[in-house]
Amino acid sequence: MDRRDFLKKGSLAAVAAGVSASTVANAASVIKWKMVTTWPKNFPGLGTGANNLAKLITEMSGGRLQVKVYGAKELVPAFEVFDAVSRGTAEMGHASAYYWKGKVPEAQFFSTMPFGMTANEMNGWIYYGDGQKLWDESYKPFGVIGRPAGNTGVQMGGWFNKEINSLADMKGLKMRIPGLGGEVLKRLGGTPVNLPGGELFTALTSGTIDATEWVGPYNDLAFGLYKAAKYYYYPGFHEPGTILEALINRKAFEALPKDLQAIVENACRVVNMDMLAEYSARNPGALEQLVNKHHVQLRAYPDDVLAQLRKVSADVAADLAAQNPAAKKIHASYMAFLEASRKYSRISDLAYLTARDGG
Ligand code: CA
Repeated sequence: MDRRDFLKKGSLAAVAAGVSASTVANAASVIKWKMVTTWPKNFPGLGTGANNLAKLITEMSGGRLQVKVYGAKELVPAFEVFDAVSRGTAEMGHASAYYWKGKVPEAQFFSTMPFGMTANEMNGWIYYGDGQKLWDESYKPFGVIGRPAGNTGVQMGGWFNKEINSLADMKGLKMRIPGLGGEVLKRLGGTPVNLPGGELFTALTSGTIDATEWVGPYNDLAFGLYKAAKYYYYPGFHEPGTILEALINRKAFEALPKDLQAIVENACRVVNMDMLAEYSARNPGALEQLVNKHHVQLRAYPDDVLAQLRKVSADVAADLAAQNPAAKKIHASYMAFLEASRKYSRISDLAYLTARDGG
């Protein structure tokens, strides 16, 4: 094949990938990446967030870096995304860091913590505090880079088939709840189960689990969880602002020219903001539907239950910090940022929201 044929073929491939042939400066230099995800393909919010990230990188680079998304199980199972990116089977992944607690326990701090930081606070810590630096240190031995690429905001507490009136009601409960929230449940005598989102509905209807949390009204409505459980609890104390992460194979990233590196970095930032905006826009309407159309029983965790959960959660975080020196360092940084933010939030967001709603 001579050079002209080669270029023509490359341009046709670019057209097939949805990129204008004229924008591909040199078809021979096109780089193709795979992105594996822990979400079902095209799943609202999370899966579409991964799609947006791939599309943005492909478009912003004029087709020089083309990213193709694979849903859970298409290339690798949901919980093998980190390993796949680490060994270079895929150059990118889209997931959340608490899924790797068996491998990198301290990474859970870069996902969310029960009674921890909100989305805004996490962004502050990651972008302008020590968060990103510590995250880089934590993933370095695995040849992986993690970046915030989405946030759910405050999640919902979860779906139950019985009311939660005291901590005793959590005893013996088999519940899908990931990360440190799962550790909290374990200390209360429950059994936390880590299942990918795509398996929740079946697990709950078949009785494999008694209860589940997932994300919030928009996602929970899409999975039809209201058909499998009666009570919908709030607030999601266990996930107050969960970061979805873009995983990037470090070698693949470092091999990119500087402009493509900047595109990858900034596409992650855009998707990080965009996903939170989408949840803010879609959750209220979805909750309305769940309550008014599907007659879901909305319940608040009782104050005394939350107070006890808060105490157990602090113990769980402290125990994680004691696991290894990296966890200790990250926990200290996280808590220092949270304490400073807590004081300021009282006279800003909290004071304002209380004033806005008339007390
Ligand atoms: Ca969740």
